[in-house]
Amino acid sequence: MSAWSEKEDRLMAELLCKGYSARKISEALNQAFQTTRSRESVLGRIRRSKKAIQARKNQWSKTAPALAANVGGRVKSCQWPHGDPGTAAFHFCGAKALAGKPYCEAHCARAYRKKDVTAEEAGKPAGEGVRDAA
Ligand SMILES: [Zn+2]
Repeated sequence: MSAWSEKEDRLMAELLCKGYSARKISEALNQAFQTTRSRESVLGRIRRSKKAIQARKNQWSKTAPALAANVGGRVKSCQWPHGDPGTAAFHFCGAKALAGKPYCEAHCARAYRKKDVTAEEAGKPAGEGVRDAA
């Protein structure tokens, strides 16, 4: 199985942010990148990403108590991935996430950009806030 590219990770994160299912994400990825990833492959990737997130949180709790309190409390940090999980360069954005979203305002805006909604509207659940300009 080929390694996941940063672009694939990014699209997966975008679609997760929009509430897509793993099956829909695999279909979208295959279409965008001419790959043949299965729903299980996407699920595994999400799971591994979450493990990386947890490992990162554990690391933070040892080295930065203030930040760990942030992660464990009501304010969640942005989980937009940078780099390839498993490499030393991999990290998460870490900025303050929007309420109910895994990403900060800037990254949610990026995740929603393809639907042409504003950053303000990106804070709402998918399906809401879609209105005609007319
Ligand atoms: Zn972010």
